[in-house]
Amino acid sequence: MLGLMQNHPLLISSLIDFAARYHGDTEVVSRRVEGDIHRYTWLDVQRRAKRVANGLDALGLQASDRVGTLAWNGYRHLELYFGVSGSGRVLHTVNPRLLPEQIAWIVNHAEDRVMCFDMSFLPIVQGIHTHCPSVKHWIALCDEDKLPADTGIPHLLSYEAWIGGQPDQYPWPVFDENTASSMCYTSGTTGHPKAALYSHRSTVLHAYASALPDVMGLSARDAALPVVPMFHVNAWGLPYSAAMVGAKLVFPGPAMDGKSLYELMEAEGVTFAAGVPTIWQMLLGHTAGNKLRFSTLTRTVIGGSACPPAMIATFRDDYGIDVLHAWGMTEMSPLGTLCTLKEKHRHLPEQEKMKIRLKQGRPIFGVDMKIVDDHGEDLQWDGKTYGDLYVKGPWILDQYFKGEGGDPLVDGWFPTGDVATIDADGFMQITDRSKDVIKSGGEWISSIDIENIAMAHPAVAMAACIGMPHPKWDERPIVAVVLKPGAAASRDELLGFYEGKVAKWQLPDDVVFVDAIPIGATGKMLKTRLREQLKDYKLPTV
Ligand code: ADP
Repeated sequence: MLGLMQNHPLLISSLIDFAARYHGDTEVVSRRVEGDIHRYTWLDVQRRAKRVANGLDALGLQASDRVGTLAWNGYRHLELYFGVSGSGRVLHTVNPRLLPEQIAWIVNHAEDRVMCFDMSFLPIVQGIHTHCPSVKHWIALCDEDKLPADTGIPHLLSYEAWIGGQPDQYPWPVFDENTASSMCYTSGTTGHPKAALYSHRSTVLHAYASALPDVMGLSARDAALPVVPMFHVNAWGLPYSAAMVGAKLVFPGPAMDGKSLYELMEAEGVTFAAGVPTIWQMLLGHTAGNKLRFSTLTRTVIGGSACPPAMIATFRDDYGIDVLHAWGMTEMSPLGTLCTLKEKHRHLPEQEKMKIRLKQGRPIFGVDMKIVDDHGEDLQWDGKTYGDLYVKGPWILDQYFKGEGGDPLVDGWFPTGDVATIDADGFMQITDRSKDVIKSGGEWISSIDIENIAMAHPAVAMAACIGMPHPKWDERPIVAVVLKPGAAASRDELLGFYEGKVAKWQLPDDVVFVDAIPIGATGKMLKTRLREQLKDYKLPTV
């Protein structure tokens, strides 16, 4: 027997219609590429998203045609999020931090028909447009009078001229909720990148789940600042979840330095922010250096790479701001787990609570996970046993776009490539990417643990732990360290700093000082490149 309830497809267009109807006067504020602040409302977003939809019709785009973006977090990008997907086309956000050749490869692979770009990325477009035959229309996200005369890009349109002539009425089409809505390529540090192709259903379900109280806890009383880029994994779904709850949105544009972010947070009453650890490091550097306080910020989601304990402690102890450690990946839309404590943890001593907060957290309803050994057998949830982390759920990838890479699933589970422990309460902790795991004498050493300890030293700005070949132990960990400007610490001092913090056999064999640690397009350390840089390095013989 079937239930007798209405069957409305879960569509992205309903999110913007809801925000416009019930939160129409709530603001969306953006720092623009032009440098000034733009301010309007959810109602304006809807009207202009409908102009975008009409504009795409006028360009002759068919359902499921891809529309690329190379853009910062800002209001025009937001309008494309809703106008492109809402009208049945697929929004393809492209990461401008990739190399131009990679961008061209991705645009060709996705067969983008239109490419909308912020003027900051004009040089990239000038370099690649002749290599992107599928793109029939290049659109600069600016006013008509900001368009330079001689860009060399044929038929270049300004966004404002393009949508300016279009009506702001548009009947959103109704279609199967499993229809593709947007896509994002993984960073492809090895081999060609592959794309996750999200659906309307997966996106709306992810938005519901991510707004829950134990997840991001978003509401109509929040002003949310996504510093996580809209060009990578949909800014952790915040454009959608903010529309779903009617939160104010505040966009930083290209200005993500500590000072600009702090000023924007204070000026706009930001209560909630989301970003990767490196961003918060810059922000905390600015606030500490200038003895500033946050007057409205209550919580910040930190993910994308492991959040150093020192950062959680600084936010909490010095500023009274809750840090929500989160984990996910492109293939998971991206949220998988988020760390919020349970009632049973309320009376634990602060130090014990901190140990839990450092974990990547427990799954959001909709995500199921397990850890397995090399034979695919389930491992114990004791918070100690490490294994390959597998996940499944309605916003987790089933196949890559165009079937690239074959069937990625193992018995219906998606192998994340992460190695983790899970404790009896279901809190997961990542110890490594499987390719970065350090195996010494048959035992695994967590590079994240080693990095976190180094990062807690006052002289250390950044640390990366990698394994080096060893004749007896197979591999031994060393830690590459970037010192803070003006700070000093010797190798022996840093090695001594580990004592009592990890078991003796887990102590790094060496500290190597480097000027910088290579960072990839999504802000993660590129350990492959670091290993290449240190290829002539030899472990000290004791
Ligand atoms: P990519 O484009 O490289 O796939 P993703 O943003 O999808 O970029 O990266 C996902 C990976 O990032 C995860 O598999 C995990 O290794 C790492 N990651 C994400 N969040 C965390 C976290 N909180 N702690 C540790 N690692 C994390």
